[in-house]
Amino acid sequence: MHNQDQQLIFEVSKPGRIGYSLPEMDVPELDLNGLLPVGYVREQEPNLPEVSELDIMRHYTALSKRNHGVDSGFYPLGSCTMKYNPKINENVARYSGFAHIHPLQDESSVQGALGLMYDLQQHLIEITGMDEVTLQPAAGAHGEWTGLMMIRAFHEANNDLKRTKVIVPDSAHGTNPASATVAGFETVTVKSDEKGLVDLDDLRSVVGEDTAALMLTNPNTLGLFEENILEMADIVHGAGGKLYYDGANLNAVMSKARPGDMGFDVVHLNLHKTFTGPHGGGGPGSGPVGVKADLIPYLPKPILTKRDDKFVFDYDRPQSIGRVKPFYGNFGINVRAYTYIRSMGPDGLKAVTEYAVLNANYMMRRLQPHFDLPFDRHCKHEFVLSGRRQKKLGVRTLDIAKRLLDFGYHPPTIYFPLNVEECIMIEPTETESKETLDGFIDTMIQIAKEAEENPEIVQEAPHTTVVGRLDETAAARKPVLRYRPE
Ligand SMILES: *Cc1c(COP(=O)(O)O)cnc(C)c1O
Repeated sequence: MHNQDQQLIFEVSKPGRIGYSLPEMDVPELDLNGLLPVGYVREQEPNLPEVSELDIMRHYTALSKRNHGVDSGFYPLGSCTMKYNPKINENVARYSGFAHIHPLQDESSVQGALGLMYDLQQHLIEITGMDEVTLQPAAGAHGEWTGLMMIRAFHEANNDLKRTKVIVPDSAHGTNPASATVAGFETVTVKSDEKGLVDLDDLRSVVGEDTAALMLTNPNTLGLFEENILEMADIVHGAGGKLYYDGANLNAVMSKARPGDMGFDVVHLNLHKTFTGPHGGGGPGSGPVGVKADLIPYLPKPILTKRDDKFVFDYDRPQSIGRVKPFYGNFGINVRAYTYIRSMGPDGLKAVTEYAVLNANYMMRRLQPHFDLPFDRHCKHEFVLSGRRQKKLGVRTLDIAKRLLDFGYHPPTIYFPLNVEECIMIEPTETESKETLDGFIDTMIQIAKEAEENPEIVQEAPHTTVVGRLDETAAARKPVLRYRPE
């Protein structure tokens, strides 16, 4: 239950009420003037609320209840893999030997941590079928950019300077064209065919001597496995280009198929999706990149290697694209991913894939009679519905998403991918029970009925949340981000 009347902390403030106690000052007071530039030293007391410890406790607890997270409810946000992150990951990440070390410590004193990173790299090499892996990139998009910079360095080293274009299907994740642009390439879009897969004729017509790489999101953002990968690999490699695999959604193929075996030269993974690192809100992630042998010289430096049974960082990498992250990546996420891989084991990881795909297909088939299904094929870890039937009744996909909030669900991804009208992209993940899936399906069916019988209730949703329907334009253009006393 939400408490709509929860007072803001500023409103319960009483002059003189405090929630802390400090010992008497026993050192001389520092004169900040002179230490800090003029204008940086506060001249007046800040206008802070004066409250007790209990008041502040209740304030933050109330705020936390207004948030939706995987730990509080179902979160079928397509393409984001908001699955449950086992708490054993957190326990291990907090071991003081991992949590309390410093990145500048001498290598000899952190052999355990380096060993974990090395082992994680070996596991990811095995899972992806690549020859080497870097753990430096901090996110999926960062991994994409890192991979493309390596491809660029490869072509430059071969004096193949006309390769300025990266081919990106229209069913790719939105970060792909963005990363290609930031890496200095021009992006070329290839169309999907009526089955929702890359149109091979269109691909053939854009591939050429100026092709640096093809970036393939697989399964694509429609949740469909690209059937013609080996043919695509022939087309692109035949023209001298490289193949990039966006493996952020490895949940769908892990332990079943490996990008390295399909002919890909580079792949990135999202440890903060498939491998249960916490994510959301732009928090720290990890986007390791795997490469085939001919790209190893360009990996970000330092690379972690084993020499005489010791783990060492090797900086002697003359062809490296350089460092892409201060220190060595987001180590805490590596610990979580390592714990996950080791606690699941190979059979566990295979089961993850099977249940992720089973759950998505189960939901898709139960929802099919009630919503339009633009691509009626076996899906992988996610699927895409269209709200065009409901739109004819005056209920838009945005309204359906808002109505789901009334039932305690995080909405699916909406209006993406762009090639589906009134798109609803649902990813149930493998960690949810059948009861949870059925609860969500029944709610979606109820909302479809409401759209027919009582559209206002959907159009005006949400009704039970602390904040109602926002003016989205004003919220984006004139955000109110802090409390201002009158
Ligand atoms: C999430 C995602 C990305 C981007 O990952 P970030 O960590 O958010 O940068 C890229 N590609 C696909 C397919 C994704 O699902």
